[in-house]
Amino acid sequence: APAIGVLALQGDVREHVAALTGAGAHARPVRRPRELDAVDGLVIPGGESTTISKLADIFDMREPIDKRIAAGMPVYGSCAGMIMLATEVLDGRPDQRGFAGIEMTVRRNAFGRQVDSFEAPVTIAGVAGEPFHAVFIRAPWVERVGVGVDVLGEVTEGPAAGRIVAVRQGNLLATSFHPELTGDLRLHRYFVDLVRAA
Ligand code: GLN
Repeated sequence: APAIGVLALQGDVREHVAALTGAGAHARPVRRPRELDAVDGLVIPGGESTTISKLADIFDMREPIDKRIAAGMPVYGSCAGMIMLATEVLDGRPDQRGFAGIEMTVRRNAFGRQVDSFEAPVTIAGVAGEPFHAVFIRAPWVERVGVGVDVLGEVTEGPAAGRIVAVRQGNLLATSFHPELTGDLRLHRYFVDLVRAA
């Protein structure tokens, strides 16, 4: 089974470790460069992207992660993790900085500040079965994607209909929502397969 790390600087690390384990990976928290060296793929969890950005510098993880991404390591970011994988962030803090990631523009806290969280069905291209019961918590959406980026999923109903919430560029995968919170392992299985194939 592939070894997959969950970046454990801040956020819902335990939930991703549990989901990855359920999906057949050897999953473990990663917060030091040496620990990153030992994994085949990485998940960046939901949490607070400004905090994760700051801690990535404090823990000397920024350059090692950028290098592994450049070398083709698969990475999956959910919510704050999606923001950390975006080349451009709208409504971000001026000092927050992402990894060398997906050619896209995301808007932080995009779904509106009066509704902190909501749920909607989302179909993901390449994942069979029912739509995901997607949970959004102060989530970003994607406003622009570059040429090499595949849109995997959009919100299909309600005021946010048409908003892009799942993308993939090569070995990099990102979702606005949190499949690790709903016990639906299909997206983690998709990522484990991607790591196996890499
Ligand atoms: N609003 C958070 C951020 O900007 C993301 C929220 C989440 O990960 N649930 O990073």
